[in-house]
Amino acid sequence: MEKILEVKDLHVTFSTYGGTVKAVRGVNFHLNKGETLAIVGESGCGKSVTSNAIMRLIPDPPGKISKGEIIFRGKDLTKLSEKKMRGLRGVDISMIFQDPMTALNPTLTIGTQLKEGLQQHRKISSDAAEVKAIEMMDLVGIPSPKERLKQYPHQFSGGMRQRIVIAMALICEPELLIADEPTTALDVTIQAQILELFEKIQEVTGVSIILITHDLGVVAKIADRIVVMYAGKIIEVGTKREVFYQPEHPYTKGLLNSVPRLDLQGEKLTPIDGTPPDLFSPPAGCPFTARCPFAMEVCDKVYPTGTTLSETHQVDCWLQDDRAKRLLATTAATTAEK
Ligand code: SF4
Repeated sequence: MEKILEVKDLHVTFSTYGGTVKAVRGVNFHLNKGETLAIVGESGCGKSVTSNAIMRLIPDPPGKISKGEIIFRGKDLTKLSEKKMRGLRGVDISMIFQDPMTALNPTLTIGTQLKEGLQQHRKISSDAAEVKAIEMMDLVGIPSPKERLKQYPHQFSGGMRQRIVIAMALICEPELLIADEPTTALDVTIQAQILELFEKIQEVTGVSIILITHDLGVVAKIADRIVVMYAGKIIEVGTKREVFYQPEHPYTKGLLNSVPRLDLQGEKLTPIDGTPPDLFSPPAGCPFTARCPFAMEVCDKVYPTGTTLSETHQVDCWLQDDRAKRLLATTAATTAEK
């Protein structure tokens, strides 16, 4: 499968009066052409910082990509000039955010805003841009697109505004779309419709998607693979099936137990106790130690070496180490004898 994006050993820091926050700490992942990769985790785990780093939207200062590579179509984005990045943003890589209102200018018509980016980047005539704008509005499910081009953002509902934002992000036909919590500000019914729209646009345009979310329900619907982040690190990655049905990291299991699932009706929901560690001075060992019911002596001291469970499934947890497995097996056998 062709890789469209590779993130290698990415570190992002923020300087504050209180010290340096290590928000992203050695993240590695890739995105295949035409797939949807979800990055999930609690608030503050580094998922949005990672996506902003890909767009080179980390405010510097106080933020900084302190180490690593972000390879997009053979080029390391961390090394590109701001001018070259401006040429990429909105054209080859687009991003949509949680609140559609912040992405739309309330004083301009939808048509003007849709055509603007296209005319700026593709240098096409106003008439040709209008044809493309109508085509995109139609694709994202806006009825009577020709008439509605003349309307302003306040004349659209929240769900319709998010559809317009998606149309704006896609109008230059980017290869990569990054959606940061795209359904969080919407009610449940509209959320489902927007998720269906993502599936449709991927089918029609072939765009590769990174979906950032704290909501595993969103992921279940459209992701091909899932990256689970905790305290600035990727602690588990796998296909949707592997992460949902064979999760191995206690944090992933905790996340799954804390959200309602249609396939497990009647199951009790259990929140994960405790809070993530302070990223001013993150622990040397596993950052989940203080919250993990299976924590061992080694966990606190040494970060777990990653274990490859399948070609697509990797996990960072000492429980996967053969020595821990033998110890657990012996403990289980002794308990059974008693
Ligand atoms: Fe728990 Fe240790 Fe695994 Fe971390 S490495 S998740 S503390 S068992």
